[in-house]
Amino acid sequence: MNDRVIGILGGGQLGRMLALAGYPLGLRFRFLDPAGDAPVRYLAEQVVASYEDHLAVAQFGDGLMVATYEFENVPVATARALEQRIPVYPPPQALEVAQDRLVEKRFFAQLNIPTAPFAPVDDRASLDAAIEQIGLPAILKTRRLGYDGKGQTLIENRADIDDAWYALGGQPLILEGFVPFARELSVLAVRGQDGAVACYPLVENLHRNGILYRSIAPAPRLTAEVQLLAETYARRVLEALDYVGVLAIELFEADADRAGSARLLANEMAPRVHNSGHWTIEGAVTSQFENHLRAIVGLPLGDASARGCAAMVNLVGSLPDVTMLLALPDTHLHLYDKAPRPGRKLGHVTVCAGDATRLAERLAMVERYMPLSPFSPGD
Ligand code: AMP
Repeated sequence: MNDRVIGILGGGQLGRMLALAGYPLGLRFRFLDPAGDAPVRYLAEQVVASYEDHLAVAQFGDGLMVATYEFENVPVATARALEQRIPVYPPPQALEVAQDRLVEKRFFAQLNIPTAPFAPVDDRASLDAAIEQIGLPAILKTRRLGYDGKGQTLIENRADIDDAWYALGGQPLILEGFVPFARELSVLAVRGQDGAVACYPLVENLHRNGILYRSIAPAPRLTAEVQLLAETYARRVLEALDYVGVLAIELFEADADRAGSARLLANEMAPRVHNSGHWTIEGAVTSQFENHLRAIVGLPLGDASARGCAAMVNLVGSLPDVTMLLALPDTHLHLYDKAPRPGRKLGHVTVCAGDATRLAERLAMVERYMPLSPFSPGD
């Protein structure tokens, strides 16, 4: 039995960054991922097998100190099977909640965490009933396996209903009222085995084509009141699940002057380290990856404060000229060792600065080199 080996279900970039954060702590890693070309392949031991392969899961779990996951669509049954033999953090119940948008929205509602209005849709009649109840515009989403904007369609008016049903009907769905948000934020929090909690400053997120493009941390114009509100919601989720590890909740922020409506609405949660927390590697006292590992192995949590201001830009689909990027001040590159493909996250860039004005200047320089940036030369 090796008491320093952490098992990670999923061998993507999140797993890769977890391992990179864990080596200085003297930890070792073993991954389970069906892809032979996973980003962790040169970094650690990897069992290449399906998450449903019971024999492979048993082999993967053999002698581990603790198991975790970097991918929220890991079958709950696999996490529960592992849990018979070794601790699994975050608790598999968190996976169960996060894998089904309806269960997740009901869970938030139970905890008095505001969300968009929602209703289950199982057939055409219940879609009509849900529209009656919620009104339009609304978004029809699959309950399971939706990510990065996939598996959802906007219904702006009645003429769109048939197309939306044609696109998604025949599987369990949820209809959500369209939230006219001012911006999207996320809160990342970590809870240790002893129940201690640390929260990172809220992050402002900008999506393009349903994929996270850019995060800024701390979120510009962040007030102490909004930070506290988000932390309160995060703590409710952490306590309710007796959670251990990093949790991310994606939030919609309404305009401050929209009297009567909730200021923050929860959209979804991720029971794992999160793309909107990559800035913490250089921008926070302790990164989300290190804090997740500290939590699951029972070490004290590290300080989650920001060191200054940071922005993270995802490299999606193709890579920019990295030589130009790395010549910029306090600019850091992370490549995931993945083959380029449209819509694929290949890496990210984090730029740091001592204050928001300097950060905005540096971010503008970074964005000039982004392939999809409106400022890119030749675009
Ligand atoms: P999701 O897959 O739920 O994270 O949704 C992807 C993106 O769609 C979000 O980041 C939002 O930009 C947008 N979106 C999702 N749900 C809603 C909603 N109820 N109202 C407005 N925009 C939404």
